[in-house]
Amino acid sequence: MSDLGPKMDTEEQGSAGVLLKNGTVLDYFPAELGAAADPLVETCDLRMSGERIVERGQGLEPHPEDEVIDLAGATLMPGNVNAHGHLYGALAAGMPQPTSALETFTDILTEVWWPLDRSLDADAVYLSALAGSWDALRCGTTLVFDHHASLACVGGSLDLIEKGIAEVGLRGCLCYETTDRGGKGQRDMTLQENERYLQKVADGPKSGVPRFRGLVGAHASFTLEERTLELLAGICSKMDSGIHIHLAEGTTDREVSQDRGWKDPLDRLVDFGLVRSGSLFAHGVDLSPIDMQTLEEKGAWLIHCGRSNMNNGVGRAPVDRFPVNCGIGTDGLDDNMWGELRTTYFRGNEGGRGPMGFSGSDRFWLGNYRLAREIFGEAFGSLRPGSPADLIILDNFQKTPLNDGNWMGHLLFDFHPWDINTVFVGGKKVYQSGDKPPVEALKLQETAARIWIAMGMK
Ligand SMILES: [Zn+2]
Repeated sequence: MSDLGPKMDTEEQGSAGVLLKNGTVLDYFPAELGAAADPLVETCDLRMSGERIVERGQGLEPHPEDEVIDLAGATLMPGNVNAHGHLYGALAAGMPQPTSALETFTDILTEVWWPLDRSLDADAVYLSALAGSWDALRCGTTLVFDHHASLACVGGSLDLIEKGIAEVGLRGCLCYETTDRGGKGQRDMTLQENERYLQKVADGPKSGVPRFRGLVGAHASFTLEERTLELLAGICSKMDSGIHIHLAEGTTDREVSQDRGWKDPLDRLVDFGLVRSGSLFAHGVDLSPIDMQTLEEKGAWLIHCGRSNMNNGVGRAPVDRFPVNCGIGTDGLDDNMWGELRTTYFRGNEGGRGPMGFSGSDRFWLGNYRLAREIFGEAFGSLRPGSPADLIILDNFQKTPLNDGNWMGHLLFDFHPWDINTVFVGGKKVYQSGDKPPVEALKLQETAARIWIAMGMK
């Protein structure tokens, strides 16, 4: 992990910025780096300059040419992070359902998601990223870990997603879902796309807060041959990157392994050195206690996608056994992280007060920021000087007291996307309530209709 220490330079401290006065500041990581501290709520001022928060305290004075915004007590907090999503899922909103019954998870993949990703062309990739990012922004989500597949448009697809995300003003960690579903030729294109994008990011700006990062993407163990895992491991090693892959999303992953005479999915990935710090596994519904121990020991990340699991009927992930490095993702449903957290908590309580609780919710929520810190090398989730100025300001209507002891209760039962007044990313105002979507995003309607027809959904 990179050094997360204060990264301000004198230019950032001295240049014109934005002074937020009298905010009720919810800071998820209020301590000096390396020191442990629980999230904190305090009334104070924040000054942003360049891409970062540069001052925090009571009664801060504006610098010449600063914009001054009096929040009059309005709540503000770090921008939300989605640890596993698929922006192309924006195309599935309202999509006609297949006429055949979807009885199993495999049916859902073969009748819905795989026909969709096979049909995506360049326009669909870009416009879904643009429209999906706009939706994310309106939910206060400022950083997305995207997991992309578009078998008819592989080369350059990650650039198209980057363009859509950047035009809205978010940050992203991108990858392409390598798979053997399309044969060797197509597999090689997907591998190349991952490596090409990782090299592009590595060759990018060396200063400032990174806007984009990459991982080595792969679909899931059950669509990957042994040789492909070997090639993926080679790229991870060459590019010093972890992998981003679905793991044990229901029993299909393990059942296919058994049919093919392979080891269980996690053991296969361990054998190729893919289970390591910086690697990101989504779902983990069908993992044993020993598997969870392995993930813990390897320092890998396991991302819970509760709403997706419910939607696909793949079972209930054992959230009480998830490793320390855990988070939550929406898996393409949307980028509403408060909604995801809320549903995860409710499901934890369903059938009796279950394993989530407030403390369980804390570790999944804060885990998303710890993951972002590990991959980007920046102090996301903190509102201390030196941190990236990615933050949400709510309308000035805090119905009940917000304090150090009840912040999770507000995330679970209080905050909604319609409460969001303003979003800043990298010190720049990227959204204000009432803003209109990017004009280009309106073209998604026409594109979606065309893609649905190409899929045979009428
Ligand atoms: Zn997914």
